[in-house]
Amino acid sequence: MVSRARGGTTGAVSDPPIVEVAVPVPLDETFEYALEEGVRAEPGARVLVPHGGRRVVGVVIATKSSSEARTRGPLRRVLQVLDDEPVLPAALLAAVLRAAHDALCAPGIALAAAVPPGTAARPGTRVTLLPAGMRALERGELRGSLASVLWALGKRPRSEAELRARFPAAVPALARLERLGLVSRAAGTDPPRVRARRERVYRVAPGVDLARAKQELARAPKRLELLLALGATPAPARSSPALRALVEAGLVLCEERELSRATHVDPLVKSPEAPELTAHQRSALAEIAAAIEGGRHTQFLLYGITGSGKTEVYQRAAEVALARGRGAIILVPEISLTHQVVDRFRARFGERVAVLHSGLSAGERFDQWRAIREGRVPIAIGARSAVFAPYEELGLIAIDEEHDGAYKSEDGFRYHARDVARLRAERASCPLVLGSATPDVTTAWRCAHGEIERLTLPERVARRPLPTVEIVDLGAEPRGARRGMLSRPLRLALAETLAAGQQAILFLNRRGFAGRVYCFACGFALHCRHCDVSLVYHSVDGPRRMDDPLEGELRCHYCGYREDPVDNCPSCGSREGGMQGFGTERLFEELVAAYPSARVGRLDRDTSARKGAQRSILTAFHRGEIDVLIGTQMVAKGHDVPGVTLVGVVMADLGLHFPDFRAGERTFQLLTQVAGRAGRGDEPGRVVIQTFLPQHYAVALAQTHDYPRFYREEIARRRPHGWPPFRELVQLAFTGRRAQSVEHAAHALAGLAKTVPCDDPSEAVEVLGPAPAPLARIRDEFRWQLLLLGAREPVRRVAAELARQARGPGFAGVTLRLDANPLQML
Ligand code: ADP
Ligand code: ZN
Ligand code: ZN
Repeated sequence: MVSRARGGTTGAVSDPPIVEVAVPVPLDETFEYALEEGVRAEPGARVLVPHGGRRVVGVVIATKSSSEARTRGPLRRVLQVLDDEPVLPAALLAAVLRAAHDALCAPGIALAAAVPPGTAARPGTRVTLLPAGMRALERGELRGSLASVLWALGKRPRSEAELRARFPAAVPALARLERLGLVSRAAGTDPPRVRARRERVYRVAPGVDLARAKQELARAPKRLELLLALGATPAPARSSPALRALVEAGLVLCEERELSRATHVDPLVKSPEAPELTAHQRSALAEIAAAIEGGRHTQFLLYGITGSGKTEVYQRAAEVALARGRGAIILVPEISLTHQVVDRFRARFGERVAVLHSGLSAGERFDQWRAIREGRVPIAIGARSAVFAPYEELGLIAIDEEHDGAYKSEDGFRYHARDVARLRAERASCPLVLGSATPDVTTAWRCAHGEIERLTLPERVARRPLPTVEIVDLGAEPRGARRGMLSRPLRLALAETLAAGQQAILFLNRRGFAGRVYCFACGFALHCRHCDVSLVYHSVDGPRRMDDPLEGELRCHYCGYREDPVDNCPSCGSREGGMQGFGTERLFEELVAAYPSARVGRLDRDTSARKGAQRSILTAFHRGEIDVLIGTQMVAKGHDVPGVTLVGVVMADLGLHFPDFRAGERTFQLLTQVAGRAGRGDEPGRVVIQTFLPQHYAVALAQTHDYPRFYREEIARRRPHGWPPFRELVQLAFTGRRAQSVEHAAHALAGLAKTVPCDDPSEAVEVLGPAPAPLARIRDEFRWQLLLLGAREPVRRVAAELARQARGPGFAGVTLRLDANPLQML
């Protein structure tokens, strides 16, 4: 299927060729190096080069002749070309470089993130046995570790790392051997940590006349037996003298083949036959298929409520891409939580699916990656980094639950998979399909402005109704009606569900952050009067601990606005601030006490830390061995369990007080997602949402499943502040051990930012802050931040300029990190 055109220079380059190399250091520049005469390195291949007194592995991004070189004068040389074939196809290389620019990331760091780790040769030291060493060995002059290291070295040079791994005393021993003039050490490379696993296979050589062989081997029964056992198809065999003799006699061929560390998981779903599409699915698929077949890049938003059959559309679209001989990439937010999508692809496409995710060992990951690179597996499905699946020819990229925050990388190369996917789909002239019931507000905005074409699946498959949503106003509950965390209506609903033999999910969004100022008696929260985000409590030592008395101050981490802390809730007068008692653990205990016969399961970061635990809990839930599953965000995503008829949201407001302009969007998405888990089977579903803020638009509109209205509300709220999508946001995060230096650096750059000249008002960049980060101190590092808001390129220009300044004097001991369109600003 996927052809492997060899890119790059095919003709002869007259001058000694020069390569432009991106090295993995935090610098925007790339560097030129000369190649040895007759050596080739194509763009996308890795090379070992000298850089700043070290040797590093970089990626060739272009080849040129010496007349095209930027640098005048002699160039440093490439020490070694590490890949004969480029690891990255040309179009992927180009997309990653562009994405690096957009993410304000150094090209070399971005490229390093796009190839599987551990697969390049590394800079290392080669040790060679000298003639004097050989003589010393022969005469038996040495003892102990010196002798064993020398023996192990043998005749061909070896890597020092290899010797170190075998002998604990190798380092001092080698130093002594070198001083004695018995070995020499020189810079070289160590083999990659991860390599293809190979095995030897044997088969009867073609043209061997078995009848004659029988006669000839009459006196060697072992060989004869072995020869007859081996067929014409290559198979592994145990090494033996007989086997070696057969190979030597030319009767048996020995070959090497690659072993695949295949990862196999039993699919939970077994429904390989494709159902007949609904009318809506058909028309959505027709549009996507036309783009694939026409080789057209189009972005589609597949806007379909939960259970409307989006996954089925991805599968059919993938079939179309495969039929055209092209690859398909399917992204899911988190493999462990969305196993069903993976399982359904496996059930439908079998061996034609490669699964890429962080749970694989490096070797497994590498095998999957190579299978894709060599065009053996046409579908790649995986989490965020699967967007780098190295297809030469792509026919489709689909992103399921495109609004999910897991698509944003939060360290190193801080890309968003959706952006990389768009850049790749553009270059591959193929469609990008973004699926969601609650699209990212920015995606919906692009849709409204004609950049993305909308395809709608307006109803659930088989006309299953959406669940009814009941909102329980905790503030209006009569005193004593609530027991622990459960209101009376939720308790009743649970009892009914259990009595009917059905299943329930209880969702508690408790993702850590005790720093916000929130009253648990009445749900009141303090907001910044300038920024519309929650204020954060800062004590002298950083964020507030739950049991601390209120001291320090309240701050807005966006603009720096500050206020004195309050002891009593300004709304209800209660002194019960804090978050104690709210957690899945306590919810679990409450449930077990209230419904002793119910089988209760718990799914959160604590219970699923063990590998495979998550899956076994989910499997038990699927099989109906758990009646009530309680959990955090993990229970909200992707599960399609027909027996679930009740979903309870224990406290909808928690996410609303997150100090982020996206708090409303996140809450709406989460409530809609979690509600979508109910009523996916034959029985209709119901949802109970507990909240102190029943009027909040994100809660009220989740009740009516009204995304369009939510979108209008949200856009209206962001417009006056110019939050994305109106402008782009770049975060500059400062960290360091000394509070003063960090604060000083943040102020200095804020001052500089305000002086960057700008004549054109459309290019203006607004500077917010500096302010302490919401988590003002993490692991003894102090954190401040500065936000820049502006149009796409101007805001990046200013950010890049500030980063350059921050490399200068006066910023010692402070690390600056840039994040374009950050999703988390803690
Ligand atoms: P979504 O991805 O939008 O949440 P799914 O693709 O998971 O929806 O579909 C929901 C359920 O409906 C799944 O169990 C799926 O197998 C089933 N389904 C999807 N399309 C059809 C169809 N055309 N006919 C019958 N069942 C379908
Ligand atoms: Zn209160
Ligand atoms: Zn503010």
